[in-house]
Amino acid sequence: MKKFDLIIIGAGRASNLAVTAGKAGKKVAIIEKSTLGGTCPNRGCVPSKLLLGFSHVANAIKESNRHFIDASINKIDINKIFQETNEYISKIDEKYNSRFNENVEVFKGTGSFVSNNIIQINNEQLTAPKIVIATGTKPIKPEHEKAWSSDDIFPLEGEIPKSITIVGSGFIACELAGFFSEVGIKTTLLIRSQNILGKEDHEIQEIFKNEFSKKVNIEFDTSAKDVEYKNKQFSMTLENKNGTKKDHTSEALLYAIGRESNTSSLKLENTSIETDDRGYIKRNEFFETTAKGVYVVGDAAGVYMLQHAAAYEVNHLSKILLEDCKEPLSFKYMPHAVFTEPEIASVGISEQEAKKQNIEHITTTTNWLASAKAMSTRLKYPVTKFIVNPKNYEILACHMIGPESSTMMHQVLTVMHINNDIRHLKEMLYIHPAMSEALLPAAVEAVKAIENYNK
Ligand SMILES: Cc1cc2nc3c(=O)[nH]c(=O)nc-3n(C[C@H](O)[C@H](O)[C@H](O)COP(=O)(O)OP(=O)(O)OC[C@H]3O[C@@H](n4cnc5c(N)ncnc54)[C@H](O)[C@@H]3O)c2cc1C
Repeated sequence: MKKFDLIIIGAGRASNLAVTAGKAGKKVAIIEKSTLGGTCPNRGCVPSKLLLGFSHVANAIKESNRHFIDASINKIDINKIFQETNEYISKIDEKYNSRFNENVEVFKGTGSFVSNNIIQINNEQLTAPKIVIATGTKPIKPEHEKAWSSDDIFPLEGEIPKSITIVGSGFIACELAGFFSEVGIKTTLLIRSQNILGKEDHEIQEIFKNEFSKKVNIEFDTSAKDVEYKNKQFSMTLENKNGTKKDHTSEALLYAIGRESNTSSLKLENTSIETDDRGYIKRNEFFETTAKGVYVVGDAAGVYMLQHAAAYEVNHLSKILLEDCKEPLSFKYMPHAVFTEPEIASVGISEQEAKKQNIEHITTTTNWLASAKAMSTRLKYPVTKFIVNPKNYEILACHMIGPESSTMMHQVLTVMHINNDIRHLKEMLYIHPAMSEALLPAAVEAVKAIENYNK
């Protein structure tokens, strides 16, 4: 049996831990059943955002008449778009491999537990006093065997479809539907209810629904029934909640209906590692599972399902394992963004959640039009919504919808990180008339609302 100081199962974000541990002189085994780098660079955040770079430009041209410019698109080379994206993906495995030093041994295959501290990989058994599970999640299987999940388009090889139906209402479904639609592929987004981006704050959701529906053909309250694949085409019946039915066809069908735990291959039944009722691995505040010396980080724990959360956790785990850090990690806040047009960025609780949990709060919603740069976009919908604690000026949440919301949000995050008090955003000096200046009246409004509340 091969002995290591550390075994890592899953080379997504946890590959960073292998790099750091290898540099610290530890003997590391890292096991990966697919390409090194995991979901984010191979079939997640990065390739999906690379695609959005192309559709962003197409969108700007299509909407140029808002600025009195009469422009049209002559041709979009969709093959080139996918070639470029596929090429990026093809280099990831090698790129990640080159980051490991001689102390790190890579095992390609599916790792599983023989016992709490013995791992089976291909025909070998490995052991280490510390084992890290970082196996991520996988897409929920499409309801038709010929249909795609998001994994099937990264890389997208072969003929690019001229039409696509996407089932789902979350950020992956919306980002992909936005991309395909903008680059001229006939796109239909099927949503079972009226709820799109259902976890966002309701007010933001409403604005998004209104704006996004102008760009993408969305069938709300609709499910695909009797799906068949014949002659390189899907045919299906679209059934609306009100009972109406219509025939629908498209060359591709993609399900983005959520992701699920990836732990089935780990043979956890051979260990004392416990999972929750969704199949995600339970852990304590130091990321340790119910088996001593076995840790879990990232999506495999089923908490945040975001790349930056996984990376932050891996970074902290490396302090616990390599620097004897005794501090648990508690996230002060967890931001996210949806990189659609319109773009959304959000941190903290939604208003509906604050009400449900009976949290004392005040909300203010302010448009961006006080910023000349924001005004120059000639978009009317962008807003910033603050949810604040009237007792101590704490920012409980901020929700933004508008161009570059994800960038704008970082100034709110900085305040939340250093000293969470909305008054900093009111008192700080802004560059005039930058887009970020739109946050000044939003902060002024929120502070005024708190003062009125406390009068
Ligand atoms: C289309 C898409 C877009 C996304 N966009 C964003 C975004 O914009 N922003 C954001 O923050 N997040 C985004 N995400 C989510 C983000 O990709 C994940 O949160 C992140 O990659 C999780 O990292 P991880 O290391 O926990 O898991 P992963 O990166 O999934 O890594 C797990 C690895 O473990 C391997 N593995 C699993 N089981 C075994 C086994 N038994 N043996 C060996 N290897 C195994 C897998 O092959 C995989 O490589 C997106 C996801 C998708 C699918």
